[in-house]
Amino acid sequence: MAQRSPAENYRHYRDLLPDEVALMLATKERSPEEVAEVIEAGADLIGENYVQEAEAKRQLVGALAERAQWHMIGHLQRNKVNDALDVFDCIQSLDSMRLARAINRRAARPVRMLVEVNIAQEKTKFGITPDGVVDFVGQVAQMENLRVEGLMTIEPLFDDPADARLYLARMRELFDALRAQDLPGVQMRTLSMGMSGSWQVAVEEGSTMVRLGTAVFGPRT
Ligand SMILES: *Cc1c(COP(=O)(O)O)cnc(C)c1O
Repeated sequence: MAQRSPAENYRHYRDLLPDEVALMLATKERSPEEVAEVIEAGADLIGENYVQEAEAKRQLVGALAERAQWHMIGHLQRNKVNDALDVFDCIQSLDSMRLARAINRRAARPVRMLVEVNIAQEKTKFGITPDGVVDFVGQVAQMENLRVEGLMTIEPLFDDPADARLYLARMRELFDALRAQDLPGVQMRTLSMGMSGSWQVAVEEGSTMVRLGTAVFGPRT
């Protein structure tokens, strides 16, 4: 099989996905040149896992970087909040009340964010428990500098991605329940779930944003 370039892969997945599903490219460990290439091809959502890596890359990508939104998708340490607020347009990894308070205290303007849910309650993962997420969003909604726009999850990895289906469906239920609550200050518009192995199942279960890394850029080294 002929190797496709990241730009070709981006277009390939953009064409495969329904129009209403956003495509984020997860660019950890990818070079500024690779990021520039996909933005040139039309990618408008870049997800990074580390504040410093994103900061350096965004600068190296230069003016082209401004054609995309940059989202934090990795665990954010509280001592990195100030830098993160400078670099990112949205934080998808709001995973604790302490982090929420730190962001609310330091932000000079309302910050867009998604609440990360540890949907399978895995010990190795960050995120709010499924049972706690409705309360959590209710509390965060009252913080003046936080704008909750949805939920994010890193669903468990299975050899057969269909095995993740029940967790993805549970995420959609939580998303719909919160949307029905219609809390002031909360706009449930993004359900960020599905990665290279699981995006098809995630879309079937109601994802509104998939995050692809290896499918577009090849294996990480
Ligand atoms: C790396 C990463 C992805 C993309 O994973 P792939 O399996 O390479 O597509 C998506 N979301 C998060 C939070 C990641 O860290």
